Amino acid sequence: MAVAEPPPAVAGRTEGGGANSIETSNPQRPAQPSRRRHGAPVAIRDLPSPNQEDRPAGMPIDVLILHYTGMQTAQAAIDRLRDPSARVSSHYVIDENGAVLRLVPEERRASHAGISYWRGHTALNDRSIGIEIVNPGHQWGYRDFPAVQMTAVSNLCLEILSRHPISSRNVVAHSDVAPDRKEDPGERFDWHGLARNGVGLWPEGVPDRGTGGVIRDAAGLSDVRRALAAIGYRVAPDGPRDQALATVLRAFQRHWRPGAITGQADDGTRARVLAVAQLVGGN
Ligand SMILES: [Zn+2]
Repeated sequence: MAVAEPPPAVAGRTEGGGANSIETSNPQRPAQPSRRRHGAPVAIRDLPSPNQEDRPAGMPIDVLILHYTGMQTAQAAIDRLRDPSARVSSHYVIDENGAVLRLVPEERRASHAGISYWRGHTALNDRSIGIEIVNPGHQWGYRDFPAVQMTAVSNLCLEILSRHPISSRNVVAHSDVAPDRKEDPGERFDWHGLARNGVGLWPEGVPDRGTGGVIRDAAGLSDVRRALAAIGYRVAPDGPRDQALATVLRAFQRHWRPGAITGQADDGTRARVLAVAQLVGGN
């Protein structure tokens, strides 16, 4: 990744001007008034999409949604994101070689999230910035995101975060905000590395407790449900393991527990869910 520093105890920024473990953890860098970190400057090529609109008046831009393109080629994805009849778009596309295209200016609304929910908000296109990251996805041969591509993702995200009041907990996957429809950017996406660079949240130091100890009953699941809702997912407050909860658990695992996408509240998943909820708890 672009910014090599020792990982802090807790990766990511806090919301609302709280203490920042990253800025102060670097002995080479004195404490700065800004809690934002900076990556290398990003070279951006403009290739406008017609699929853009005004945002609702006064709407904050406070969510960053990461996607994969999920098409066979980058060009096919770019063509679709610029096709008036497809009516989809994103603010940026990042190719596998790290090249960055801007299709929609950040102050305008792009159409990337669809039906979505996060932390009580729906219609997330209104308030989010969307980045499409080129990868064929689960349908066409899901593969690792090259390091040069991830460096570009990190640097672009840092620039976006420097311009908008987007908290670490609001840097999310498409699958987080639409778990019943979407799997992107998926379990191969390096959320941990991004968080080390100051993009998004990651609970450091949670030991892998494995896939045993699966909980299925309502009483046992109540803290998991409560924690998932606190993180931002749409989760019913009560009930045994059902399909809806399994779907949200898979989304959580793709982001924060990528080693085992089971849809089960096993020991390892439960530990991570509670750890992420604790990270966001002060925000
Ligand atoms: Zn998507």
